[in-house]
Amino acid sequence: MLRVTEIFHSIQGESTHAGRPCTFVRLTGCPMRCTWCDSEYTFTGGDQVALDDVMRQVRDFGCPLVEVTGGEPLAQREAIDLIRRLCDEGYEVLIETGGYLSTEAVDKRAKIILDVKCPGSGEAERNHWPNLARLRPELDEVKFVIANRADWDFTRKVVAEYELETRAKSILISPSWGQIELKELAGWIVESGMEVRMQLQIHKYIWGPEVHGV
Ligand code: SF4
Repeated sequence: MLRVTEIFHSIQGESTHAGRPCTFVRLTGCPMRCTWCDSEYTFTGGDQVALDDVMRQVRDFGCPLVEVTGGEPLAQREAIDLIRRLCDEGYEVLIETGGYLSTEAVDKRAKIILDVKCPGSGEAERNHWPNLARLRPELDEVKFVIANRADWDFTRKVVAEYELETRAKSILISPSWGQIELKELAGWIVESGMEVRMQLQIHKYIWGPEVHGV
């Protein structure tokens, strides 16, 4: 059984997969408490759903791309089984994880989108750094949410220290919603000369920041 907040079919809003139709399996619960979290509604509640039933609902949407997200999807042990079954059935599987838990047990066919928490999140000391060594340049992406200049300076340091420009398929730089001027962040990125990708959460521009399950 998995505790599930919602399963829905929409447009992928972040990462290099942004803009693609995607089925989302949003699992309930997260051990982190990022200050700017936009998924607090996933912390509690949800429904207990059998793995077979999750698979059936995913199949019903008929979409080849599936993202397992949360909350923190890896906080439920059964999520590992779900990811394996999705891969076995031939889906292209994305895992959006907050970076606190190890990605080691995740099926190697799945593509990881790994958050590194910056100081502005209030959770930077909980990053599980060994995850960075597991990133695969052909598949996995790493994401930094930037709320202020200190977050950007932290990002530059981590990217250099862990050689992320060669270790990850893409380094995603995401402005914290409503907390930072987009032009200012864009300027820092251009000035840095770093091989990164600024990304906007396009689902929020399409449906608005408060709408869930679309
Ligand atoms: S890891 Fe993700 S879901 Fe958990 S508190 Fe942080 S932003 Fe929210």
